Amino acid sequence: MVTREQVLELVDFKGDKHPVISLYLSLSPERLKNRGFLVEAKNLLRVIENNPVLEGEYKRILDFLQTKFDPSSRSIVIFTSPKDNFFQIYNIPIPVKNACIVSREPYIKQLIWLLEQYEKYCLILVDTKKAKIFSIHMGKLVEHTSILDEVPGWHKQGGWSQARFQRHIEQHIYEHMKKVADTALYFFKREQLDRLIIGGPHEIVTHFKNILHIYLIRRFVGFLVVDIEASTQEVEKKVLSLIKKIEVEDDYKLMKRVLDNMGKMAVAGVEDVIGMLNQGRIQVLLVNPELKMKGWLCSKCHMIKTVQKPCEICGRDLEKSGDIIENIIEQNFELSGEVHFLANNKKLKELGSIAAILRW
Ligand SMILES: [Zn+2]
Repeated sequence: MVTREQVLELVDFKGDKHPVISLYLSLSPERLKNRGFLVEAKNLLRVIENNPVLEGEYKRILDFLQTKFDPSSRSIVIFTSPKDNFFQIYNIPIPVKNACIVSREPYIKQLIWLLEQYEKYCLILVDTKKAKIFSIHMGKLVEHTSILDEVPGWHKQGGWSQARFQRHIEQHIYEHMKKVADTALYFFKREQLDRLIIGGPHEIVTHFKNILHIYLIRRFVGFLVVDIEASTQEVEKKVLSLIKKIEVEDDYKLMKRVLDNMGKMAVAGVEDVIGMLNQGRIQVLLVNPELKMKGWLCSKCHMIKTVQKPCEICGRDLEKSGDIIENIIEQNFELSGEVHFLANNKKLKELGSIAAILRW
């Protein structure tokens, strides 16, 4: 998969005088079966096929696809450039949109989209005797329950809530839950997860939430009503449907923040968003993933413009950019701004498909 650090590294890579090739290739099971993905890749790579400067890159990509790639991935993303022998591969567990882009830097809009779209969830199922621990990323549920045996119950002493908790529940149940809570914290941090869901019988889950470390309570997003003995398929189905609901609700809240603060702490439309980006004022960027726009870019100070005129900072002539939305997302990412992609959001479309919540 791909991490924020890896994407930041890609953002930093500049081809300078050398081109950079970014190849996004979706690998459906049918395409894998008869190696149809090779035909697809060759079609996408036509843009560089007869370019003498990129002959080596063309060969390198096809060599990799023919011999070395991981057939368990659902998609593959390759970045390559003659500069510094640059060659990076990302295996992605969900489909991407096929594309081959030749540019001066890696084309990373889709990678950032994947990164921001698919937060990593932790699911803890707990009852009075048992517990199960799962991670969920990109629609895939993976069980990690065995970690409960690896991690001894560190904190035999209860926290502030022990007395209150024990008014409702017996000591041995408390100890079981405390061990699960401690293991969950260790696991959550080790796997760098983002959000927590707790599942199990209704009368247990709220007690369990109360004994969690504050770090986990802050990342808690919902309860799941499910039997701890339910099959993995059933748990997956239920939790994915809950995550979908949570994310729809998130989008709604974000759009509400934009609309409530419009003209004050929020702006919309490409021009206004660029204005705020250039001042480093964007906290959260909201983009329709379909939005693409040609424009102009200063290769020295990265000033983005929708019209061609000299750079306001260094006075250079701006260069053509095939997609300034990509440039906006990339620069916002570099400035540690959040990005949220809202597909098919009617309100965002009405605002020009791009908006921002400001830091100040
Ligand atoms: Zn400039």
